[in-house]
Amino acid sequence: MAEASARKLYLHIDSVSKSFGAFQALKSISLDIYEGEFVCFLGPSGCGKTTLLRAIAGLDIQTSGRIEQGGRDISALPPSKRDFGIVFQSYALFPNLTVAENIGYGLVNTGKRRGEVQARVAELLSMVGLDGQERKYPMQLSGGQQQRVALARAIALWPGLLLLDEPLSALDARVRLHLRTELKHLQRQLGITTIMVTHDQEEALAIADRIVVMNHGVIEQIGTPEEIYRSPTTPFVASFVGQMNFFKAAASGAGELRIGNIDIVVPHASEYGKGEFHLCLRPEDVQVRGIRPDQGNVLEARIEGLEFLGSFCRAQLSALQDDAVRFQADFSINAMRDLDLAPGRSLSVALPQDRLRLFTSDQHR
Ligand code: ATP
Repeated sequence: MAEASARKLYLHIDSVSKSFGAFQALKSISLDIYEGEFVCFLGPSGCGKTTLLRAIAGLDIQTSGRIEQGGRDISALPPSKRDFGIVFQSYALFPNLTVAENIGYGLVNTGKRRGEVQARVAELLSMVGLDGQERKYPMQLSGGQQQRVALARAIALWPGLLLLDEPLSALDARVRLHLRTELKHLQRQLGITTIMVTHDQEEALAIADRIVVMNHGVIEQIGTPEEIYRSPTTPFVASFVGQMNFFKAAASGAGELRIGNIDIVVPHASEYGKGEFHLCLRPEDVQVRGIRPDQGNVLEARIEGLEFLGSFCRAQLSALQDDAVRFQADFSINAMRDLDLAPGRSLSVALPQDRLRLFTSDQHR
């Protein structure tokens, strides 16, 4: 993606709302997307991601608000007057047309000459790795290959915007990972502004330049994958993206915070005042090695359970000082071996101050 200073605004979504009867699926969504960006709409089922994508495509018209594409107000235009290609979860290919005919369908319809269509189809087949498959029918292809055809068809007419609605979710895990990498590569190569709807946080983290996290028809946070993962700004984002420990904490207002009967030091805690809070810490941020006795937030914890997860281990821990304080910590396989970890054993862990995030209780929905 281009540097922030050189970024050119491509899609401007201004206070877009969408109601279905009395139900408000989108609540005043505002969002800017820049030329060449790969943006993922991420959120749980029913949060409004597909509705927002369909509003951008003109497949559903928003109840209120405005959408501009390349400086042009497209808010009221039908899909045919907008400039996008779209791929759905179900490949939606014409079963009675060959691969080449499916890909060339739009080109033929817009009156391109036969030679031009053939050349473009050949270029697209090679782009999506389907050389030699042009005479086959969709039913003779695997799911992954069908989705490549759908992708080639979507970009055949050189659209300015590529819209992808869960394009990988019907595929099995291995094909899905492979196609995800290829999709990202193709998007980079073409420089096409792309929006992908997904409920899979790992997919969004891996593929997006920026992620728009949605929940209940509103945007919870917009940021790069690293920002979303490292600095969630709402408890929802903290819990939806990646693994997260949530501790209920009480603050005295004097900069002191307690989880159960354990005192915890958090930077700037006094700014939060008195009350109930949620303290978050990722399992991989629980420190298990190199702990200095004077570093603060050091606890003795008992291992209640251990899960072997291939490249690392996840332990369920309870604090010795207050066994209602329970949390997870990730250990490398080496750490597990060196520390000779096993259920029932105890060890020292630290909750590093710079990794703790604090949310007020009323932010927690
Ligand atoms: P999923 O991942 O399950 O597709 P989503 O985040 O894409 O979820 P949307 O399809 O945008 O969710 O739907 C948002 C909400 O709007 C849902 O509660 C859904 O039931 C509702 N909704 C969507 N389309 C319609 C419709 N045509 N009529 C009535 N309600 C609708």
